[in-house]
Amino acid sequence: MAVTITSSARSTGCPVCAGVEPIELLRMPGLPVHCHLLCDDARSACEVARGDLTLSLCKRCGHGWNSEFDPAKMEYSGAYENSLHGSPTFQAYAKRLAKRLVERYDVRNRQVLEIGCGRGEFLDLICQAGGNRGLGFEPSTPVDSVDAGQAFKVVQEFYPPRHGAAPTADLVCCRHVLEHVAKPADLVLAARQALADRPFGLAMFEVPNLRFTLRDRGVWDLIYEHCGYFSRESLTWLFETHGFQVQQVDEVFGGQFLAIEALPSDHLGATLAAKSLDGLLQAALALADNYRVMADYWQTVLNRRGGKTVIWGAGSKTVTFLNALKLSDQISLVVDINRRKWNRFVAGSGHRICSPEALAGMPVERVLVMNPMYREEVAQAMQALKCDAEVVCVSDVPALDF
Ligand SMILES: [Zn+2]
Repeated sequence: MAVTITSSARSTGCPVCAGVEPIELLRMPGLPVHCHLLCDDARSACEVARGDLTLSLCKRCGHGWNSEFDPAKMEYSGAYENSLHGSPTFQAYAKRLAKRLVERYDVRNRQVLEIGCGRGEFLDLICQAGGNRGLGFEPSTPVDSVDAGQAFKVVQEFYPPRHGAAPTADLVCCRHVLEHVAKPADLVLAARQALADRPFGLAMFEVPNLRFTLRDRGVWDLIYEHCGYFSRESLTWLFETHGFQVQQVDEVFGGQFLAIEALPSDHLGATLAAKSLDGLLQAALALADNYRVMADYWQTVLNRRGGKTVIWGAGSKTVTFLNALKLSDQISLVVDINRRKWNRFVAGSGHRICSPEALAGMPVERVLVMNPMYREEVAQAMQALKCDAEVVCVSDVPALDF
C-alpha cells in the first residue's frame, strides 16, 4: 500500500521542523548562484548570476539554511560540473561506502535507485559490490556520457519524473542533493514512496555536515546552491517525521559529510534529544567571529605574498573563498585534476583553471588546498611534478583555537 504522508515543511520558518525565530549566524553577499558552472572566458565568469547567503539556524531541530535563498535563481545545465570522483581519495571513500552498505544490509541482487546520480559512479560501485541493478536520475548529465553495457542506466531527469509512474526500488541512494532543495521533505517523501510495497527497503542519504562547517573551519562550504545545512539532529528529525526509522547517522569523510541510513516505517514522530543541540548552538554563535579571523588572516597573508599562490581544486570551497574574500591578483591560477574544467574559468572570480602539469616550471611559492582531506594527495602530486612549493591547507589559520 502506498504511503500518503504529506510534507510538513512551510515556506516560512525552518524548512525541516517549521520552527520559528531562527538565529542569523553569518551573511555572505554576492556569491555566484552556480559555483560549479564552467565558464568559457574570464569575462563571462565574472558576470555570472549572484545571490546573497544568510546562514540561519533553527534552535528547535538544529537545522541551518540560507534564509535569502531564491529557488527561482536555480537552473542546471550540461555545463555544470561537480563530480568529485576524479580524486583517488574520494574514489576510495565512495568504494568503502558502497561496500559497507552492501555488507551491513545484505544489498545483493537488489534494485537500486539513485536520485541525483551524476554520471553514475556510485551507482556503478554499488551494482558491482552486490550484483545489483541500478537506475539513476540526474537532470544535469548528458545521457551519452554514460558508457553502454553497464549494470545501471541513467535517466536525464529529476526524480520523481514529471510523466509516468515513478520507478520503485529496494535501496534508494541520494548523495549531495538534499542540501540543494528548498523543501527537503518532498525529496524524503519521494524516497519513501519509491520504497513502498517492497519487502526489503533501505534509504541512504549523504549531505554536508553542518557541524563541520561551524566547528572545523569548514566555513568555505557555504555556497548559494546549498539552501540547507543539515546537522545530525535535523537530518534525523526530517526522516523520522516522514516515514522512516533511522538506523544510523555517521560523520564520514573526515567529518565533512553525514550519512543517514533509514528503514521505511509507519510510525511518525521525532525523538530529538534537545540537549544535544547545546554544542551546536555554541559553535554557531562563534561562527561570525571565527569567519572574520579566517578572512582577515588570508587577506593579509595573500596581499603580502600575492601572485605566487595557486589554489589546488576548482570546487565549491574555492569558489566561495575567492568570491567572499574578493581575491583576484592575489591568486595566480587554479588547478584541478578534472580535465573537464581545464581552460575554463572560476565562476565569479574569473580565475583560469589549468591542469596540475601547468605548475611545472612556474614560480609558485605556495599551493593552497581547500579541503584537508586532499592535503596528502596534493603533496604527493606536487612531488611527482617536481614542484617544491609549500602545500598549505586553508584551515591552517594559526590565530584560531577551535
Ligand atoms: Zn527546525
